Amino acid sequence: MKQLAAETIRLVSSSQVITSVVSVVKELLENSLDANATNVDVKLENYGFDKIEIRDNGDGIKAADVPVAAVKHYTSKISSSEDLEKLATYGFRGEALGSICSMSEVLITTKTASDDFSTQYLLDRSGHVTSQKPSHLGQGTTVTVLKLFKNLPVRKQFYSTDKKRKEEIKKIQKLLMAYGIIKPELRITFTHNKTIMWQKTRVSDHKMAFMAVVGTAVMSGMVPFQHHSEDPEVFLSGFLPKPSSDGCLTSHSSAERSFIFVNNRPVHQKEILKLVQQYYNLKSHKDSNRSHPAFFINIAVPPSAVDVNLTPDKSQVFLHNKSF
Ligand code: ADP
Ligand code: MG
Repeated sequence: MKQLAAETIRLVSSSQVITSVVSVVKELLENSLDANATNVDVKLENYGFDKIEIRDNGDGIKAADVPVAAVKHYTSKISSSEDLEKLATYGFRGEALGSICSMSEVLITTKTASDDFSTQYLLDRSGHVTSQKPSHLGQGTTVTVLKLFKNLPVRKQFYSTDKKRKEEIKKIQKLLMAYGIIKPELRITFTHNKTIMWQKTRVSDHKMAFMAVVGTAVMSGMVPFQHHSEDPEVFLSGFLPKPSSDGCLTSHSSAERSFIFVNNRPVHQKEILKLVQQYYNLKSHKDSNRSHPAFFINIAVPPSAVDVNLTPDKSQVFLHNKSF
């Protein structure tokens, strides 16, 4: 793992990655996926404010890398900003673990294939290791985040209502569903206060993964699509409601089952969301409460044609050539 050069840091750094419980879950989950995990367990206690724990069966962190893993701008994923042109990982800023440490108490337990046993590390606010001890977990990494936002009462205050807290759980569930769709081979469990909120087994392809999320009934109203254009190079694929489908079945009152990805990254692409919505609302049902069709669109473009560095959570991207 290396520290990014000051010039690269200026280009990629973002002052606010961790703003909510869902942003912690997103960053930790993406780290697990970047480490080739096929199994991820997400556990929250008290909506994540007491505890957020993400356990993966990925590559683990080498003992020599642990001391810098949570120090800002250390990353194993890029060496310079030019690497963004061929980016194949979710992470690249080397900021998430450091930011999480500054807002909570963090424990990392990790074991690589060549370690004999796992080690649990306690980190301080600046991301430095303060103590370590042997532990008993298998290969992979478990990040435990305790007392999030304890030192940021205003941010915590934002979640003081039951409604806000429940919305956050919904958002986390939708986020996990998105990664579950785009990574069919991934097994995920999501637990809140010992109750299983959602889970997905490992499946063979995107169709089975999308079905695992929306259910077989909704899936029966869907049709697969594919579109390839050469110049600019764009490959579109996914599932949309059949034009004849029953809107009561394939549409929802919110975008809770609308999934858009650019190069496997879940994104909020309002224009596409609107486009699909308008198309189906013109065509089919009249029920205005259900104006959000369930769909899944994966947009694959060369990594050099997309700027993932627009927003801190990378949930909006800039496509260099939109006219496809
Ligand atoms: P980034 O993901 O941008 O590199 P992070 O702060 O999220 O920055 O993580 C820092 C580094 O810690 C990563 O580059 C990676 O090497 C290591 N790391 C973090 N989480 C995991 C994990 N679950 N498994 C393996 N390595 C991890
Ligand atoms: Mg990361």
